[in-house]
Amino acid sequence: MTRMLIIGPPGSGKGTQASRITESLGIEAISTGDIFRFNVKEGTPLGVEAKKYIDAGDFVPDSVTNRMVEDRLNQEDVADGFLLDGYPRTKGQVEALDGILERAGKQLDVVLQLTADNEELVKRLLGRAEQEGRADDTAEVIEHRLSLYEKETQPLVDVYAERGLLVRVDGLGEISEVTERILEALKGKGGRK
Ligand code: ADP
Repeated sequence: MTRMLIIGPPGSGKGTQASRITESLGIEAISTGDIFRFNVKEGTPLGVEAKKYIDAGDFVPDSVTNRMVEDRLNQEDVADGFLLDGYPRTKGQVEALDGILERAGKQLDVVLQLTADNEELVKRLLGRAEQEGRADDTAEVIEHRLSLYEKETQPLVDVYAERGLLVRVDGLGEISEVTERILEALKGKGGRK
């Protein structure tokens, strides 16, 4: 079993690859974006709070996000393995995650960084906007999400590199090709019996 993170810019194919990786490794994917969107759709108090940030392409406040992730990580089905997609995104979230795992007596095995160039990302996101109609996929909001990623999230990669946990994979190419690349790169990295 593996406890891992996937980090990559909006449009890098994180979500798509997350579900393929988790299927192959037999672990649960936890996407903070999906949890937020589900709550928005259901109109829960969490969803009502999160919606204004999501629509603007801003981060939901750490206090809200951290609590939500801690609840999810304390559930039985992710005791031994999970792939966190879209979290942590800020320094504060890295510290919160460290605390959550420490309190549970657990450790991360690997952090996967998916890379892609900006031009390709914008193209993909605008294409997805037409297909899925996500409210946060307008040109202006996309630009904002990409710059927030560069400023706040990209630097976190160094933290995990220093801990010796980082594996970097090129996210450009066919979906299945990228999955192959990832699974190959993960071989021998932190899988636990
Ligand atoms: P993407 O990575 O393509 O921007 P996600 O589905 O991961 O999309 O996230 C969508 C939105 O949900 C984000 O723009 C943000 O508003 C909110 N969100 C998701 N994860 C987090 C997080 N870890 N911290 C704060 N906000 C988050």
